[in-house]
Amino acid sequence: MNKKNAAKETLLKEIAKCRSCRFCVDVCPTYQASEGVESMSAYGRLQLIKYLLTGILEFDDSLTYCLYSCLQCRRCEVVCKSKGQDIDICKIIQMGRSLLSQNLVQGNSNEKI
Ligand code: SF4
Ligand code: SF4
Repeated sequence: MNKKNAAKETLLKEIAKCRSCRFCVDVCPTYQASEGVESMSAYGRLQLIKYLLTGILEFDDSLTYCLYSCLQCRRCEVVCKSKGQDIDICKIIQMGRSLLSQNLVQGNSNEKI
């Protein structure tokens, strides 16, 4: 397995730990500022990364904005931890940005990683 595939597998495994409880959604400042756009929340971003990595969604300007507008404030992680899940949301978002950007730079934006 090459480095890129290994990173993708790691990310998908981490995202799979999410129980979809959505407790992290309301506390996210970018979700609040967007007045309820779920892809602008922690949970929404995890789902976006999953769908982009698996080729269900294609990268476009609005999805790029959703991923890069995360403030890395960790409010979501505090809530996630307090509910017993403790997912490293900020790291997943950072890794997702990096992996998906590599694909864009290489001109393979619509190709499965
Ligand atoms: S709080 Fe944690 S487990 Fe619940 S939806 Fe958010 S990331 Fe997933
Ligand atoms: S780290 Fe990102 S996803 Fe989490 S609460 Fe802050 S802005 Fe929202």
